[in-house]
Parts: sequence; C-alpha cells; structure tokens
Amino acid sequence: MEQVVIIGSGPAGYTAAIYAARAGYEPTVIAGAVTAGGNLVNTTDVENFPGFPDGVLGPELMERMAQQATRFGAKVVYDDAVSVSLGGPVKLIKTLGGQEYRAAAVIAATGASYKELGLESEKRLGGRGVSYCATCDGFFFRGKEIIVVGGGDSAMEEAVFLTKFASKVTVVHRRGELRASQIMAERAMAHPLIEFAWHSTIAEIHGDAAVSGVTLLDTRSGDQRTLDVHGIFVAIGQTPNSELFRGQLAMDRDGYIIVHGPPAPDESAGAQHQATSEPGVFACGDVVDRTYRQAITAAGTGAQAALDVQDYLEELAADTAIAAATV
Ligand code: NAP
Repeated sequence: MEQVVIIGSGPAGYTAAIYAARAGYEPTVIAGAVTAGGNLVNTTDVENFPGFPDGVLGPELMERMAQQATRFGAKVVYDDAVSVSLGGPVKLIKTLGGQEYRAAAVIAATGASYKELGLESEKRLGGRGVSYCATCDGFFFRGKEIIVVGGGDSAMEEAVFLTKFASKVTVVHRRGELRASQIMAERAMAHPLIEFAWHSTIAEIHGDAAVSGVTLLDTRSGDQRTLDVHGIFVAIGQTPNSELFRGQLAMDRDGYIIVHGPPAPDESAGAQHQATSEPGVFACGDVVDRTYRQAITAAGTGAQAALDVQDYLEELAADTAIAAATV
C-alpha cells in the first residue's frame, strides 16, 4: 500500500513528487511508457522558467525535475496507468504493464494533448508530412516550404523554430488577429522567412505517400487556393488528458478536472485547493488548467497538490488515532 501515487510526469507531476518525497511519503510516479516528461520533452528552449537566465532545453528541465524527485525518495515508473478506481479510502491504479498500485491518496497530473484539425487527410498523412511537434520533426523539412496552423504562442514558437530548416513558413490562422503574446507575435511577424495567411483554414491536405500541398479556404470570401507545401505543423492548442478519470472525478464540459480552487472571500482559509470531487484525489497542472498552461504554473499547482495530500493524510492519521483511542 502506497501513501501517494502520482499519475503523470510533467512539471506538475514531478513537482508534486519532489514535495511529497521531501515530506517523507516516498511517492510512486507513474510517468508514462513513452510520454515521460510530458509536453516539455517536445520543446526546445524554455526561456521563461525562473532560475534559468540563459534558458534551458525542455527535455533537460524535465530530466532535472525527475532527478530532483528521485533524490528525495520518489520512485519513477515508466508505465501507463490504464484504469483507476478512486472511490473509498483505498485507491486502485492498474497499469499497462500489469502492475496494481493501492494508495491512500492519488495526484492526477496527466496534462493535456495536442488538438487535431479533424480532417480525414490529416489522419491519413500523420507522420508523413503532418506533425504536431516541430522539435521532433522539423529536421525532416530542410529546404522545404511548410505551414504552421494556429495563432497562439505555440504556433509562433513553432514557426520561428521551423525557419531553421524550412525555406519558407506560412502561418495559417483562422482570424485576422493573433492570440499569441506580443513578444512572440512580433518575433514571428518580423521574421523574413515567415508569411501569414490570415482568415484562412485548411480545407484539405493533398498527397498520397506524403503531403504535397493544401487547399486553403478564405473564411470571409469562401475563396479557395492551393499551396504547394511538404509539411503541416498543427499548433492549435490542447485537450486535457482526463479520459482515465471519466465517471469518477467531476469535470467541466471540455474534460478539465474540477478542483476546489482557492477559498472564496467568505470561506475559511485552509481549503485544499487542488482537491477533486473525490476525497483523497487531487489534481494539478494542465489537466485542470484551461487558462495559464505554463510549465511554472503547472509546477505551482503540483506543489499545492502535494501540500494538500500532506494535509489530507495528516487528517486521516489523526482521525485513525482518535478512532483507535475511543475503541
Ligand atoms: P492557444 O493559445 O489556445 O491558441 C490556439 C490557436 O489555435 C488560436 O489562435 C486558435 O484560434 C487556433 N485554433 C484553435 N482551434 C482551431 C481549429 N480547429 N482550427 C484552426 N485554428 C484553431 O494554444 P497554444 O498556442 O498552444 O498556447 C497554449 C498556452 O501555452 C498559452 O497560454 C500560451 O501562452 C502558452 N505557451 C507559451 C509559450 C511560451 O511562452 N514560450 C509557448 C507555447 C505556448 P483563435 O485565436 O481564433 O481562437
């Protein structure tokens, strides 16, 4: 029987592990068989994580977090949680590798995944010109013309990164105004290899064995035009990885796990902010956060979740001691 099992290993999961380990709980982190480290593993320079004035590579940052957690006694398991049973005092977690974990408390830190455009041709040409990870696949498009879809920070970051390889990058955005932060937008707009296709969506992706072009739809006029490109990088946001908890934890309409959050002004302090609808289950990071979705905010809620677990387990131990004393 474990005291704490943490499912997920992005900044939220590892920070929760550091805090829970330092509190003496020897947490087990179910880190994912192929997704350990979360989305930052697919990033290049992280320039806004405090403590790294010259930036740090995403994979290196995650490796350091894992090392910090294990140094204090966390056990990192490279396996996928495939089912959970969270009701009652003993939580059960089963993994793809056939392991079963029983725990007094669980922290859900499963993050979020890339959104897809929803085209049949996108699925068909996935890995054959359609990509969701510039860092992983940019290298394959040396000297080629490519497209980045989206108008947020991710799209701007990917567009600028891809100019290292591509001969030209066209950012396809469905509106006439970017959602990206000013600094990221300015960096992309000032780049000589980046062009913008405003008010545009992708109607179709062409190609048999590999992407050979796209049809763009002008959302105002309805006009269509084709672009000869060899790569399409989709960067249109994320969806929370909460399927594992469906039916067991309260979620909002988009699948983000609902947590208690900070107390209202008239509520007494001391509420467990990261508590979910199920006692003993806490959630943190991108699986609860539709707003900020930063490594540092995920790490922050990871710390909160571990402190909440500590509070919960101490209350549980106190209740057990009282019950034993009154028998
Ligand atoms: P986002 O901010 O939600 O932006 C998604 C973009 O994709 C929006 O421009 C949206 O258009 C567009 N979009 C969504 N669905 C679409 C669809 N079906 N078809 C076409 N376009 C679609 O997502 P994000 O860029 O991944 O950023 C997420 C969070 O991470 C943000 O808080 C961001 O600041 C942060 N981030 C930070 C950095 C950094 O600081 N280095 C890097 C990456 C991400 P509309 O604008 O019309 O809605």
